[in-house]
Amino acid sequence: MEYIFEEVKITERNSPKFILEGEEIDIWSEEYINYHSKSVSEYIRDKLIEFEKKGIDPFAEIVGKEIEKDMVKTALMSGSNILFKGKKGYGKTTFSKTISKLLPEKILAIKGCRIHDDPTQPTCFSCKKKLLEEEEVELTFIPKKWIRVAGDPMMTTRQLIGGISLQKIKEGYDLDHPEVFTPGRVLKAHRGIAYFDELGSIPSSLQTLLHELLEEKQITTPEGDIIPMKIDTLVIASTNPANYRGVSDIKEPLLDRMEQIDIGPPETLEEEIAIGLKNMAIRKDIIPEWHLKILAGAVRCMRSRNCRYSARIEVEPSCRATIKAFDHVAASALRNGREAVMFADYGKDYSNVKLALKSRFEVDYEDEVSKDDVIVGVVNDSIDTICGEIYSEIPRNIFGGLMEELSEMGEIDVYAENGLKSYRNLWTFLSSICRKSSEVNSAFEITLEAIARCTGLVERVSDGVYVYTAYDR
Ligand SMILES: [Zn+2]
Repeated sequence: MEYIFEEVKITERNSPKFILEGEEIDIWSEEYINYHSKSVSEYIRDKLIEFEKKGIDPFAEIVGKEIEKDMVKTALMSGSNILFKGKKGYGKTTFSKTISKLLPEKILAIKGCRIHDDPTQPTCFSCKKKLLEEEEVELTFIPKKWIRVAGDPMMTTRQLIGGISLQKIKEGYDLDHPEVFTPGRVLKAHRGIAYFDELGSIPSSLQTLLHELLEEKQITTPEGDIIPMKIDTLVIASTNPANYRGVSDIKEPLLDRMEQIDIGPPETLEEEIAIGLKNMAIRKDIIPEWHLKILAGAVRCMRSRNCRYSARIEVEPSCRATIKAFDHVAASALRNGREAVMFADYGKDYSNVKLALKSRFEVDYEDEVSKDDVIVGVVNDSIDTICGEIYSEIPRNIFGGLMEELSEMGEIDVYAENGLKSYRNLWTFLSSICRKSSEVNSAFEITLEAIARCTGLVERVSDGVYVYTAYDR
């Protein structure tokens, strides 16, 4: 019992022999000194300073968000916990995962300890006893820890904190017995990062326990005993503003221990596209720029006040909608043996885009305007916008010649067309908008669509087939 309330500190003077992989080691030697005794925030702070010196951005995989990145760095330097607030799908989890990059790859821990205690400052009873009573203590290297704690209203104390009982020790149970001590999720994050996904969803009684553990470094057992628990963990939490109606679901004392950083949608179309491409599940090199802009633009439109459906959209689509829209049109192109996405890959009535978007937004009064109507509407508007851009890119000095060439072609099937090189004006323009030769047919299609939408001089008759209307007349 005597060790339980005591703070145990091991120095070179009272140290047992430490054994690592069968060999005695001097943990205070230069070889091992960096693998123990430091706190999580000290490790993070040292790494941040090292990165800053070398000009390395630890959060390079996060697109944009420069101000937010800077706030995260400042908070971490100050040893603060962080609360990311924002709607789902804007990278709160990614952000928290990249923070774990600042932890050392491995650290020394007492072998067999269920919370991976530090050899010089143990937290659990059994390690305290071991270090003070035994001549030899075995150590092991453990990899960095990033423990996710999913916010669950049904979560129990045992799941979050763990089971701890002094009563069982009094009854004669061994300190290592699971009835005496079984760590929950937060204790498992000792010496690592605890990521609370939806912190507000954790029952408020548990939030109180959590606060007690993190701030006062102690636990009140179900039997009413107060036990010191010097848990060292960096808490990163996320919360969704949808849970924020009126009163916050996160208890004030806990909220007061965290720095809030808002994570919103990507600021620009370019960032949206970059995030989409980065996270695609399949080949990302087969979507020409115009289709990237149309799809990402459609998703962004649904988040904007300028969208003609904005009054109806209750829940906006996140970046995942963009990512999946990219995936589905690319999947269709691959299935059809194409090297570049065409309008046909949007599916009949944009079914492939619907597949990506429909589960990712909500409208109110769906009987008045269906989700399908909204998707078709925003995609069409986005095609209009991008076609306007493409049309305005056609140099005026070749426009006349280009139209003449189209009139010579008569009925045009963009899939069948392969002698495009002989049409000098057209070819000049197509080459200027393509990144590579496999995109020529897709470029031809968007150019015809742009001329059709902006002038009516050509008309789309079916998928990939256009006619020069002035020629018909
Ligand atoms: Zn331990």
